[in-house]
Amino acid sequence: MDGDQRLEDIISALRADGKRLTIAKRTVARVLVEQTDHVTADEITRAVQRFVPDVSPSTVYRILEEFERLNLVVHAHVGHSATVYHLAGAVHGHLVCTNCGATIEIPARHFDALSGDLLKTFGFRLDRHHVAIAGLCARCSEAHAES
Ligand SMILES: [Zn+2]
Ligand SMILES: [Zn+2]
Ligand SMILES: [Zn+2]
Repeated sequence: MDGDQRLEDIISALRADGKRLTIAKRTVARVLVEQTDHVTADEITRAVQRFVPDVSPSTVYRILEEFERLNLVVHAHVGHSATVYHLAGAVHGHLVCTNCGATIEIPARHFDALSGDLLKTFGFRLDRHHVAIAGLCARCSEAHAES
């Protein structure tokens, strides 16, 4: 799906919800569509402010909450404090390097075995996306082994 189509879809979902479609909302949607990475609310705010300078961080935060309520956006926790956002789409998992902070997006199927096991043994349903798995990335673990 191309970016323009995604943006149109988001805007129609917002219209269907019946709330006012502000320029700030449109701009947050555009920033998210153009974003290929996981971004924090601060990063989204700065990107939005390039187009709409008077938008406050709390406005952007409220917009993100509204987008999440409409299942347009999901968030995940990838570090000690950072909450990152992106458009809702295929479920994936996150690995985060505790040394350099790199976030790696991985296909959800890597959790299949664990997920099945947890469900069978503990009746526990794994949420693959919400919280990142911590560890050392390939580069940092190599450096770690050398030292
Ligand atoms: Zn959360
Ligand atoms: Zn993600
Ligand atoms: Zn690393």
